Amino acid sequence: MPDLRELYQEVILEHSKAPRNYRELATANYRAEGYNPLCGDHFTVYLDLEGDSIRDITFQGSGCAISQASAAMMTQSVKGKSTAEAEKLFGQFHKLVTGQSREDGKQTDLGKLAVFSGVSEFPVRVKCATLAWHTLHAAMQGKQETVSTE
Ligand code: ZN
Repeated sequence: MPDLRELYQEVILEHSKAPRNYRELATANYRAEGYNPLCGDHFTVYLDLEGDSIRDITFQGSGCAISQASAAMMTQSVKGKSTAEAEKLFGQFHKLVTGQSREDGKQTDLGKLAVFSGVSEFPVRVKCATLAWHTLHAAMQGKQETVSTE
């Protein structure tokens, strides 16, 4: 078994202590709530969409280091992108944390998000890492109900 400490790389810890874009967004026209009952991670994602372009995105809530860091880095990586690009990134991120991207060996546009590759060794943490993305997905669809990973 790989060491759990290796998963909590510096970058993940840094983002979980001082998450970027952690605030309510006054200009949000879409929002969604996400909940991971396995771990207790609970976030609201605020989205300012102009047409299909993500003008601004923030989040609030509480969760473990992985879920907080993932939410913060997600907001950084999709801001300024189109909703289609964000969905594509979600697909790549999901493959990364479930270990599928190593198998098919495809190049990705994940950039800094690649630090989450270690999550694939810890299946119970996959839901922590993807919660914010599922919540973003729901927000972009204009869904109001709380998304649960269960
Ligand atoms: Zn968690």
